[in-house]
Amino acid sequence: MPGVIHLLPESTANQIAAGEVVQRPASVVKELLENAVDAGSTSIKLFIKNGGSTLVQVDDNGSGMNAFDARMCWERHATSKIAKAEDLYNLHTLGFRGEALASIASVSEVEMRTKSAEESVATRIVINAGKLETQENVAATKGTSIAVKNLFYNIPARKNFLKSITVETKHIFEEYQRIALAYPEISFEFVNQGKEVSKLQGGSLLDRIAALFSVKREDLIVADEHTDIVNFSGFLGSPKIAKKTRGGQYLFANGRFIKDHYLNHAISSGYGGLLEEKNYPFFVIFLQVDPAKIDVNIHPTKHEVKFEDGRYVYTLLQSVVKKALGAHFVMPTASQLSNAINSNPIGPRLNVTQPDGRFNPFEIPKQRVATNWEKLDDLLNTPIPTTRQPDIFTPQEQQVQSADIGGIFQVDNTFIVAKIEGELYLINQHRAHAQILFERYEAKQTIASQQLLFPRTIELSLVDMNLYLEMQNDINALGFDTSEFGKNVIIINGLPSELSKQDGATIVVQILDDFKTNYQELKINKKEALKQAAAKNAAIKAGKSLEIKEMETLVHDLLLCKQHTHTPNGLAIIVKLTKSSLERFFQ
Ligand code: ADP
Ligand code: MG
Repeated sequence: MPGVIHLLPESTANQIAAGEVVQRPASVVKELLENAVDAGSTSIKLFIKNGGSTLVQVDDNGSGMNAFDARMCWERHATSKIAKAEDLYNLHTLGFRGEALASIASVSEVEMRTKSAEESVATRIVINAGKLETQENVAATKGTSIAVKNLFYNIPARKNFLKSITVETKHIFEEYQRIALAYPEISFEFVNQGKEVSKLQGGSLLDRIAALFSVKREDLIVADEHTDIVNFSGFLGSPKIAKKTRGGQYLFANGRFIKDHYLNHAISSGYGGLLEEKNYPFFVIFLQVDPAKIDVNIHPTKHEVKFEDGRYVYTLLQSVVKKALGAHFVMPTASQLSNAINSNPIGPRLNVTQPDGRFNPFEIPKQRVATNWEKLDDLLNTPIPTTRQPDIFTPQEQQVQSADIGGIFQVDNTFIVAKIEGELYLINQHRAHAQILFERYEAKQTIASQQLLFPRTIELSLVDMNLYLEMQNDINALGFDTSEFGKNVIIINGLPSELSKQDGATIVVQILDDFKTNYQELKINKKEALKQAAAKNAAIKAGKSLEIKEMETLVHDLLLCKQHTHTPNGLAIIVKLTKSSLERFFQ
């Protein structure tokens, strides 16, 4: 009796494989671009028409193929990249399954021209639905050009699943961006419907990021760490360019774009309190691991990889991000330092002082539990607890209680210079106080109000009055005692006790004003915008002379803040004057 099992014809097998490899035109783009990269090209051009459904063409100046390989590469499991199974675990190129071209050819009309350096003529090949139609010699320069036309023309069911041209084009552009980011040294060009939409010169990663995204260079923070197992490099966007969507998150493992929510979360969590709630940071980060330690074979087309030790990579990523941000915001470069002393606030700079020594992520948890801390670094690097109970002494608070703050003095009545646990720090007094107040407001600590002997009335614009009425309860929760007092007029009966010597009317108007700006420009929620505005206006100003005791209290209270290194908008509050940064002045 004949069995029911039979072997599938090669063409059917290829079409089934195509179901996995070729989901949409963007998959073709990805495979062709990756092959061009693997071929050692220095210049790659991508042409598409109608969202890639009528044409995806990639021209490269890479190795090219001789006549034999030009025919072979369309066969299933034809690859120049692995010869035996073990090679899978030691792979340094992007392709490896030898399946892409065979799959693509089975569901489209393909035309290829290719020439290797050794051959004097090029080969032209035409394949329709997996069947070789033409193979001939033609004239061409070294490299390969592959045009994939009418994708899924022979599988109408698949073709009907394609989305609109706009959506497919968007997917293609994403693939293009990812490959262009991963290989900044290669020149890329993208032509859509005959129109050039992107032209990228080969250069540095920073140049590439700036060319691809509307990101300012000064908003990019260098991240660069080498451990025995994983190398980590790339750029982190400053908190101020974080977005409400995850669009700007590019993580690569061994040159391959990966979409890994777990690892992306590790990076975002490394930002700690620097990010507004529900904001996602921009980053372009490359992980380089021993190919034997990373399993790229899981989902070659689905952007998923498996690490042998995912938790380790998670902890590493998180620590590296914290460290890079900490170095950027806390450790001043020489120019930051002179800016700080000569003028004012220390903004983020690109030239980051890299901390000395080899970084071992495993050291961080060890430092965290140390009861007697050696350096303020540890404190600055301590993970920020998400909830804080003011009545309970956290280890952090115990450390601060016993912190040795000495040698304190003021510069220009604006900055505080303090020696903390033997290290020298520069503190922006206004920002420090604003941060302390802001965190108090956040912790909903009851703020004492002091009644005014002579209540004040103020007239507001209609817009401000509406704003006031909406936020009245929140304003009063901050220690104000205010109420409506007729048409567009409010009365101030009491002020937060720490403010009572100031002009109450001015400050309420000022708070409403800043609140409006915070709310509209920073796009943060209203309550937070109000707290920030109140904290800013209630805080001691730059230019105010302080007693030693006042400075000590300020520094002490700052160190107790959940977030003491920067303001909610990412501006530095405290910077460390490292030995190396001081030495640079004398070079
Ligand atoms: P893989 O990339 O997994 O090896 P593909 O089906 O994508 O499988 O490609 C098959 C082979 O064709 C590759 O291994 C390579 O030798 C050759 N090839 C494909 N594209 C190019 C190209 N642009 N330049 C040179 N060789 C190429
Ligand atoms: Mg390939």
